[in-house]
Amino acid sequence: MKKEDTFIQYGVPNDWAKSYVSKQLSVTSFRNLSNKILQDSFSIPIDQIKFVKRCLKRTPIEDNIVNQLLENNNYTCCLCKGTKGTSFIIHHINHYSTSQNNNYENLAVLCPNDHDLVHKEGNSLTLKITKEQIIKSKRKWEKEVETRNAQAASQNGEIEEVDFINAPRVLELYYQIYQDKPHSEYSSKLLSLGVLDSAGSINQSSKEENDIRNHLTDFNSHGPVGSWMLRAHFLDAFKQLLNKISFVDLDGLMNRKSLYSNILIGSYCFYVGGLYSKAISIPITEQTPITHLYFHRKDFFIEWLVDPKWLVSTSAIARFGEKKEYLIYGRIRGIGKKSWKGKDYIHYDIRPYLFGLPTKTKSRRPPIHYIDKWNGFDVGD
Ligand SMILES: [Zn+2]
Repeated sequence: MKKEDTFIQYGVPNDWAKSYVSKQLSVTSFRNLSNKILQDSFSIPIDQIKFVKRCLKRTPIEDNIVNQLLENNNYTCCLCKGTKGTSFIIHHINHYSTSQNNNYENLAVLCPNDHDLVHKEGNSLTLKITKEQIIKSKRKWEKEVETRNAQAASQNGEIEEVDFINAPRVLELYYQIYQDKPHSEYSSKLLSLGVLDSAGSINQSSKEENDIRNHLTDFNSHGPVGSWMLRAHFLDAFKQLLNKISFVDLDGLMNRKSLYSNILIGSYCFYVGGLYSKAISIPITEQTPITHLYFHRKDFFIEWLVDPKWLVSTSAIARFGEKKEYLIYGRIRGIGKKSWKGKDYIHYDIRPYLFGLPTKTKSRRPPIHYIDKWNGFDVGD
């Protein structure tokens, strides 16, 4: 926790808090020093001193709540989203004086400007910002921040654990973009081990000698070291591609009419969210059928066809069969119609390049205290 946060916990604006900290003032010293000393020796205006001293009489907000609130709101006013300035204050939606409520749901991040507007009671009704408006704005803003964070993480290829890399398709795309095979910190080692051939493909002949080749996937048939390095190599190659190709967020598209249209065929997209799958029986062999990941929402049925031989680990295989939160990158191959359990859907056929567990997720649901008002629409079977 930063030093200024001790003031912020009491509802003091962050820019004031910063200036107090730079003047070596702590919460305790601010409380104990007389108004005159604060005014004369620390050059703080008297109105400000009075306001802050009132704040410091409160019970401070717990630091984990402060941190969570500020992070979820990107340290930015939920009403103007920072357009009126970058400083902020933690506001009590039901005023502290009457509620003494320091719980997350009673707090909002506002800029000093909007905070003043909120507290201007008795003014004309048209200017007044209601509690309901603040609650609604906070909820919307937090969702937007969450989405942006997850988007940024996805576009940077921040992935917790890789489960699947379709190596030939990544390689093909790489050649298309760079006119060369991928180079990574492991490429020469993989070449000397005979795991990669001179064109950058996974060497099919080297695994012939391997006992376990029919038991696991292409990646794992190269043994723990080969598999680990291959994964790192192709992930690195894919991250290089992310710098060149813009993958759009499928989630954002689904709120638009554009998702109904064919112009998206050929587009690169990513998705972060819960996906359904069927369990895969092991060992994976050449006969193991193509499987899929999917979800449906509103009119859409989104499906990624998955060739199990490009699952990179046993834990990746084990994750199939139940709903899991994934980050998945692919290319839209076709758009058509699909009937599923008596309902017609617009069907998206997406070919995956890579998927795994996301570092940042989008809950697609507001925090717990809003759940009663929320009708989920992310339904699987
Ligand atoms: Zn504001």
